Formats: sequence, C-alpha cells, structure tokens
Amino acid sequence: MQKFTSKHTACVHSGTKKGSAGGINTPVDTSTAYNYLNREQQFYPRSMNIPNQQAVIEKLAMLENTETGLLFSSGMAAISSTLFSHLKPGDHLLVQRGIYGGTINLLQHDLQRMQIAWSYPENNTPGGFLNAVKPETKIVYLETPSNPLLEVIDLKGISALCREKSIFSVIDNTFASPINQNPANLGIDIVLHSATKYLGGHSDITAGVMLGSKAHVETIRQSAVNFGGSLNALMCHLLERSLKTLALRVEKQNANALALARFLRDHEKVKQVFYPGLATHPNHEIARRQMIDFGGMLSFETLDGDGQGLQKRLQMIQPALSLGGIETTIVSPALSSHSLISAEERAREGITDGLVRLSVGIEDVNDLTKDLSQALEVF
Ligand SMILES: *Cc1c(COP(=O)(O)O)cnc(C)c1O
Repeated sequence: MQKFTSKHTACVHSGTKKGSAGGINTPVDTSTAYNYLNREQQFYPRSMNIPNQQAVIEKLAMLENTETGLLFSSGMAAISSTLFSHLKPGDHLLVQRGIYGGTINLLQHDLQRMQIAWSYPENNTPGGFLNAVKPETKIVYLETPSNPLLEVIDLKGISALCREKSIFSVIDNTFASPINQNPANLGIDIVLHSATKYLGGHSDITAGVMLGSKAHVETIRQSAVNFGGSLNALMCHLLERSLKTLALRVEKQNANALALARFLRDHEKVKQVFYPGLATHPNHEIARRQMIDFGGMLSFETLDGDGQGLQKRLQMIQPALSLGGIETTIVSPALSSHSLISAEERAREGITDGLVRLSVGIEDVNDLTKDLSQALEVF
C-alpha cells in the first residue's frame, strides 16, 4: 500500500482497487458468492473482507495512521462489536463522562444485563481515570471532543496510564474526524467512528468503522463476523466516494465553525458558547496540543434559554438529529441525544434545556451568520 503524507492526497488516492478495464475508480462488486477453489482467502461480505470493504478500510487506516480496520453497518455496530469482543462477566469498563447517548444506552441496557460492570471516573483527567481503575478494568472508553459540551480530554496522559496498567484503550473519534485528530498517534489502541457523520458527510449513509493494529483488529473480527454487522458493497461505494472530499469538507467546516463560535461569543443575546477553538474554552490548551484543528461542532445557550424557539425561527439552518453533513443543522441535546437520561443527570453534566448544538456545514459563513442574526434579534 502506497503511503501518503498529505491527507488530501490520501483521501483521493489511498485504497482504490482499480478494476481490469482500466477505470480509475474501485468497481462496485455486489457479489455475495465468490469462487473458493484454490484461493488463499475466502471472500464473503460478513467476513468483512470483500474488495469494496477493503478499499474503504485502506483509505481510513491511512487517514488514522493505523494498520487496518473493519467496516460496519452503523457506528453502534462498530462500538458494540468492539466492546463485546473483549468483555466477559465480571469485567469492568471505565467510561469517560459525557459520551454519546446511544453508547450510554448500550451500557445501561446491555452490558449491565450481562454482568459487565461499568463506571465513570470522578472527572475526565488522567488522575481521575487513575483513581477509578479497578483490578477488573479491561477497557477504558473515551470520546473527545465530547457531545454536546465539546470537552477535550488528555489522550496522551490517559493512553500512557492504560499502557502501564495493560488496559485496552478505545476512542470514539466521530466528532473530530480523522482530519482533526488521530488518536492512534497519541497511543490509543482502537479508533472508532460513526461513518454516518463526517465520513459519509452528506446525511445519507449509515455506517461505522473500527481501526487499529492487525492483532487487535483480528481479535475483534473473530466476534464481529458472528455478530454480523457488516456493510454491503453499495454502501461501501458511497462511503468511498464521500471520503474523497473528507479533508476538503472538514477544513471548510472547521473554518466556518470557528467564525460562528466567535460571532456567537460576541453576540449580546448569547449567554455561553462551547467550542474548543475559543481561548475561553476550559480545554483550549489540550485541544491545541492534541488536535490538528478544532472541528465543526459547537454548542451555545441563548440568554432567554429558549432553544426550541430559536430553532423554529431559523430559515436556512435546519433542526435535525445527527451531525457531520455538508448542511448546517441544529439540535437540542436535551430533546435528542440526552433525552433518555434523567433531568438530574443532565443538569449534573451541564446540559440545560436551553442548550443547542450546531453541526456546521460548508455553506457560505455569511449566510449562516445572517440566519443566526435574524433568529437571535427577535427576543
Ligand atoms: C451518531 C454517533 C454514534 C452512533 O452512530 P450510528 O451510525 O448512528 O450507529 C456514535 N458515537 C457518536 C459520537 C455519534 O455521534
């Protein structure tokens, strides 16, 4: 596999499996049955080894600087397959505070039922994690920047602690995308993404990915083929196509998000903005150290605390679940990702009913500020 130091070039060229006709793209091979005689490798979609899956994995492994990986039918399939391939009754999972609501639901609904214990550290610092490690702790599970307050945690500090204690470290890198943060370079064992978000990037694909060393990926593959959450060739094709513009899209989203964060910070109707690229963000220094850029996600609270009213007044920015698309969307975490969590727990995590989260797209930033301005002027 050819190495590319530029992510823009890797997005375009890495992983492409050219067909016999001389076309410049990976052909779509929808076969579910492959000739098996005299072949070293038996191809089968659920074995996660068909050419369209491999093309995407090679591109993503290049972008995250890992050896290899596996492609899944959703982000949750990647997360659950990774966790359940490693955990057994009696084990303990240490989970960063403030992760994706769907993952919390998996822990509460499914891990607990299988007698797998899990807990949060007192706080998300390396010291907090160290204090919370138990003799049975098998995995430390991270997600930074976090949803929706964009907390950034010290990956180098926590991965060093995991190495020392022989604990497997896993990160959900969805919010950063491989363009803004590469956790494998900071010592994290397994990098996960919901490809439904930035990797797909057009709000029309559901997929997931898990990336790591060959040895780690092989262990997870043995369970993943039994769980069966593989991605079909047509979706692989769409995802590969999307990834060619990943660096372009994300860089524009980064620039737009920084501009909007500054605009909102200076707006008299805005109470508070959460964006790791602002010097006022509590984790700005860590973000500068470990992120390549600060990402396209930001959250804010208006002075009147009426997040729903604001969303209804917006004309171009659309109220919608999910994130990472080329169009700017807005959501109330209390009504969406964190609706399954009790009001007290939300309050403890700092997620007020008035908090709104923006997933910043690639539109002209002046059109975005204009839309936010007119929606904010009303109250
Ligand atoms: C959306 C999301 C997931 C789940 O991904 P699906 O593709 O919906 O299964 C996991 N983690 C984060 C951070 C997400 O935003």
